[in-house]
Amino acid sequence: MIRGLASALAAFVLLVVAPAATAQKRIALTFDDTPRGVGAFFTMEERSKRLVAALRKARVEQAAFFVNPGKVQAPADEAVVDRYVRAGHVIANHSFSHPHLNKLAVANYLADMDKAEAWLEPRPGRRPWFRFPFLDEGGKDKAKRDAVRAALAERGLTNGYVTAEGSDWNIEQLTVDAKKAGKKIDMAALRDLYVETHVQAADFADALMIKTIGRSPPHVMLLHETDIAALYIADLAKALRADGWEIVSADTAYADPLKTAAPDVPSANGTLTELLAWEKGLPAPRWYERNNIALANRLFAERVLHEKAP
Ligand SMILES: [Zn+2]
Repeated sequence: MIRGLASALAAFVLLVVAPAATAQKRIALTFDDTPRGVGAFFTMEERSKRLVAALRKARVEQAAFFVNPGKVQAPADEAVVDRYVRAGHVIANHSFSHPHLNKLAVANYLADMDKAEAWLEPRPGRRPWFRFPFLDEGGKDKAKRDAVRAALAERGLTNGYVTAEGSDWNIEQLTVDAKKAGKKIDMAALRDLYVETHVQAADFADALMIKTIGRSPPHVMLLHETDIAALYIADLAKALRADGWEIVSADTAYADPLKTAAPDVPSANGTLTELLAWEKGLPAPRWYERNNIALANRLFAERVLHEKAP
């Protein structure tokens, strides 16, 4: 009886402990569009203060903020960027004015990138990374794609790629819209949807990366500098860790050999996970299901607004 209990206990301990002991999943958190316009709840100053405090509380030592210096128009905007750097986070180039590479001539695109770099270069916390706005690396225009890739290398910049994303910008926009429309927002449900979506997005990306490159790289999560991040980033960090993830610095993630990846696919636009899987010929879907905005909108309506699906 006691032996049976002991072995049952041993089996239980093994079950509970084993997943944590084998956890090797690593992910860095990155925030785009800094300084981002106001959201549903906070001023830009309040949001940045809350985000810094939440990251500290969550023991996220170094996140990356991808900056659009074209949005820095007042000292208060600059103070937002400085606040992240003072808290130990790093900043990098997300272009000056957030253009689509698809819609600009290469020379104009590079001029916009250089204008941002000139703003960033003398600042503390600056890293030599460029994140393509809209993850648009030229789409179907391979000449454009290759010209910008070569220009990055000439400038000593590497692609600030992302491997995992849950379309947080859409959840934020739906929240802004609901607030404007005077709808009742179930904040606990909003938190749960945001957290669950991004944990799932990370796991989706990791499974696809392992199929594609045969290993689990340090991932890069795409987020935006939003009010929902300011509210729930500590909950997301906690949920990621409970799911077996270690949160690593952006420096750690971008030290991976993936930084020189240059996938050749019919349309260069998306996460690096998707592009590499596509290049390898892995079957679709190569993106996380909630990147389907119709599906994401329905989940938001049902769970956060408690509205019936149309
Ligand atoms: Zn952006």
